Amino acid sequence: MLETNNQKILQVRDLAVHFPVFKGMVFKNKIGDIKAVDGVSFHVFAGETFGLVGESGCGKTTTGRAILCLDKPTAGNIMFNGTDITRHDKNMLRQLRREMQMVFQDPFGSLDPRMTARDIIGEPLLIHNVTKNRAEYRDKIDHLLEIVGLNPQMARRYPHEFSGGQRQRIGIARALSINPKFIVCDEPVSALDVSIQAQIINLLEKLQEAFDLTYLFIAHDLAVVRHISNRIAVMYLGNIVEIADRIELYQNPQHPYTKALLSAVPVPDPAVEAVRQHLLIEGEVPSPFNPPAGCKFHTRCPYAMAVCKSKVPLLGPVDESEHMVACHLARQPTL
Ligand code: SF4
Repeated sequence: MLETNNQKILQVRDLAVHFPVFKGMVFKNKIGDIKAVDGVSFHVFAGETFGLVGESGCGKTTTGRAILCLDKPTAGNIMFNGTDITRHDKNMLRQLRREMQMVFQDPFGSLDPRMTARDIIGEPLLIHNVTKNRAEYRDKIDHLLEIVGLNPQMARRYPHEFSGGQRQRIGIARALSINPKFIVCDEPVSALDVSIQAQIINLLEKLQEAFDLTYLFIAHDLAVVRHISNRIAVMYLGNIVEIADRIELYQNPQHPYTKALLSAVPVPDPAVEAVRQHLLIEGEVPSPFNPPAGCKFHTRCPYAMAVCKSKVPLLGPVDESEHMVACHLARQPTL
């Protein structure tokens, strides 16, 4: 994990991404919106890994896609290196594609099965005219294969000839090929065996140090982001409910949802695990089409109070620190 400088490479302010829902086959009437992301603000320092955690459907992947201009924001803005990228034109988008890349969750589904590893990794080089001739193109791809731990002689193989971990290495090589500054890692290890997960996390850390990369690391459980992240934001139903430094979040979680996610992370010491209290959250995540009023977590929160059903808890500091939480109980203990 890199020491970060204090330069904010990314600032997300009040980001909302809503998807309209229509009814009717011929005359389509809009009947509402799926509020996938519903007012999210955070920043990422250059050189850090910022973890974004939450259950499936909480809006973390949509947040990542909006940052990469793959989903259009409904409201809010995203500043990358001081430039508002939500108002992008084609030229800006082209430049952005060079600076921001993505590593996908499914290393098999994200690689074209008809292309060789060389063609997959080389595609961005051709799109952005990075290499001058065929020899330089091949050398660059061989070098990329080596730095992600693959033998350049594998360049002519197709995705199905690689293991899951090797395919994810190809996806990482493709993302690195045009020297980006910022990479959105969208659940990059969740489709892999546990034994392979650590190898890919270690590779990402090594590459971060070697190439001064900044990561937005998306995951559905806190165990995975624990090792790699400098700071972590926890998302629930389109909102960030807690942001803190990694160690602070693990040692002093404030939001009941964060506490529940943490209690699902097993502790290696069986003696500690045996006496540890677990906070279980019942029920399913409500639909983002019709989210609960007030605190969106109140339908599942064991500590819900009357105020939680009507008043939205705002994200604010815990004891005037950098630790931020959105919970009436945590921020206003006298309520
Ligand atoms: Fe639970 Fe209320 Fe806090 Fe929401 S605001 S997490 S319902 S205590």
